[in-house]
Amino acid sequence: MRRMTFLIAGLLALTGAANAQASNPRHAAERDLFAKIVEIPTVEGQTTEFKKLTSLLKSEFRKAGITNVIVKDHDNTQTLIARWPSPKPSGKKPILLMAHMDVVAAKASDWKYPPFQFREEGGYYLGRGSNDNKAALTGIVLALQYLRAEKFTPTRDIVVLFTGDEETTGNGARRAANEWRDLIDAEYALNGDAGGGTVFPDGRVEGFGIQIAEKTYADFRLTAVNRGGHSSVPRPDNAIYALANALTAVERHRFPAMINDATRASFEVLAKGDRGQYGELLRRFLADPQDRETADLLEAMDPGSTRTRCVATMLSGGHAPNALPQKAEANVNCRIFPGAKIEDIRQQLQTLSGPDVTVSAVEGSQTPETAPSPMRDDILQAYRAAVATRFPNAPVLPFQSAGATDGAFLRAAGISVYGFGGLWGIVGQQEGAHGLDERVWAEGFHGQIPIWMEMLRRVAGD
Ligand SMILES: [Zn+2]
Repeated sequence: MRRMTFLIAGLLALTGAANAQASNPRHAAERDLFAKIVEIPTVEGQTTEFKKLTSLLKSEFRKAGITNVIVKDHDNTQTLIARWPSPKPSGKKPILLMAHMDVVAAKASDWKYPPFQFREEGGYYLGRGSNDNKAALTGIVLALQYLRAEKFTPTRDIVVLFTGDEETTGNGARRAANEWRDLIDAEYALNGDAGGGTVFPDGRVEGFGIQIAEKTYADFRLTAVNRGGHSSVPRPDNAIYALANALTAVERHRFPAMINDATRASFEVLAKGDRGQYGELLRRFLADPQDRETADLLEAMDPGSTRTRCVATMLSGGHAPNALPQKAEANVNCRIFPGAKIEDIRQQLQTLSGPDVTVSAVEGSQTPETAPSPMRDDILQAYRAAVATRFPNAPVLPFQSAGATDGAFLRAAGISVYGFGGLWGIVGQQEGAHGLDERVWAEGFHGQIPIWMEMLRRVAGD
């Protein structure tokens, strides 16, 4: 997952300048811990690396006085669950803090520097996983250490869930939400894998987002089979042409526009701040979400925000240059708007593809179908106050992500999840999550920690 980015500059009018933060003596130690965590290559299948990371995290939690740490071995990876029990419980259910330990594989030869060698350059910290999701993971650990050091006493348990397969199977979150439910059960979760802010290069803040919904991920396989034959005697029936026609139909198709509490809430905030064409489209769409033309124009500027989107991502077919193809196959990846069903999307793709192509759901690819978590005023106010400790008057808005996170597994099991982050990036600058030369803005990395602390004081304090 990646943090949300805002589209527009119009929000500027609402904002004040950031407080410049003098260089902080804690930063060197924070950087050192972050470097250690980034340099452990926790890529899928590297089980021993996960063991290294969980044992490092265990000792860091111990520094925060947290000794109740359970590490689950499962599916060639690990999941860590830590608990800071409240010394003076108010009776409220725990708050759960989430992040993931695994990172996307990185092809070293394509990177400017070795991906698992931590570096600092141009105000950024670089390394695979620095952005997604080890910055937030490290931020949570450090925030808990500092809160303990300043004698903070939570009035409810604070539970931490760090999974080891968010980028792949999501088994850690799935098991946590079901098999290990008693260990992680909470009133709601704050997921460090979504949410956060963006700041202009001159230090003015654009805004911070809190993720309350996510689209459903699903892959579909489009398969055309044919009896084949000699290519010197072509026939009208041909697996490659059948598949190509199906893909063209998928490309041209537009799913119906949809709106929900999450997209409405973010569109309302964005519409208020944008006096340009984008703002005008948002206002028209909010007034009439069925207005197809407006939705299409909005979709062109902000892909995925108004509907289910499907796109061809992989292709194969044929077996010899001089033979009629016996098989052609494509993967179509869909990001399904909450409320639309995976099976309905499959049926629509089947209708578009015609009788010579079979559309099947790729088993195990789907995230659960989930409704938005209710946007609670107390959580939004706490987030606003936490962000304001660094960026007074920053716009804070709920949003829906087009990508999927571990949060879906918890939402599906009835735990509300709020994608929360104090981390910020710079408007218009690439951060390379899942891609090349991944990096995180150093000031944002350090600056997130006081924001997490203030959030926890507010939701888990007196
Ligand atoms: Zn992530």
